[in-house]
Amino acid sequence: MKITENVFVVPNVVANPYIIVDADEVTVIDVGIPRSEKKILDYIAGLGKSARDVKHIILTHSDLDHVGSLAALQKATGARTYSSHIEADAIAAGKPSREIKPSGFSVRRILFALMGPFMKATPFPVDEILKDGAILPMLGGLRVIETPGHTPGHISLFAPDVGILFCGDSMVTDKNGIHGSRAGLTWNDARARESERKQAGLGAQIVCSGHGPVVKDAAGKFPV
Ligand SMILES: [Zn+2]
Repeated sequence: MKITENVFVVPNVVANPYIIVDADEVTVIDVGIPRSEKKILDYIAGLGKSARDVKHIILTHSDLDHVGSLAALQKATGARTYSSHIEADAIAAGKPSREIKPSGFSVRRILFALMGPFMKATPFPVDEILKDGAILPMLGGLRVIETPGHTPGHISLFAPDVGILFCGDSMVTDKNGIHGSRAGLTWNDARARESERKQAGLGAQIVCSGHGPVVKDAAGKFPV
């Protein structure tokens, strides 16, 4: 699905993978659960680009639904891979960067228990460590913003020139707006609230989250 002229979201993948086509190079932000690589590559083919055009894969954090297809997608593309230091350590170990403890007898808790043994990420060595304030060349300058809370090393990416914020799971979206990281999946609530405030102050017009629809006219829809 098209978001702007050169920013897209791949449909029907958990969590949302975002595609940037910039200067003939393709960047993918987050890659979905294991075995999502074909859907992502098929979508990129539909944009008239090939697997070899994918030059960069950026991971917001190490949760399985964001890095599950990393090893397969990197192998198919040869892309350079990026994440924060803390999340890179977790991705290299094939584990989340914090303990996940879903609360209560929720459907989510039961799903985790049932699927856990079958849903493991392949350990993968990330190429490049991203720090707060780093600027990548996509979209006229894509700024790395440390947004810990959901996980300890979570990062978001903000392109001021086009007003687009890729917030991973630091916030979730629905038809009513933008909300905080989900309880039970949050490493540190206080840090999560801090990261929400930081992102609310960026002046982003479009918010692209890991779970939920893209929010346009985002001003006033932030959780803080
Ligand atoms: Zn997550």
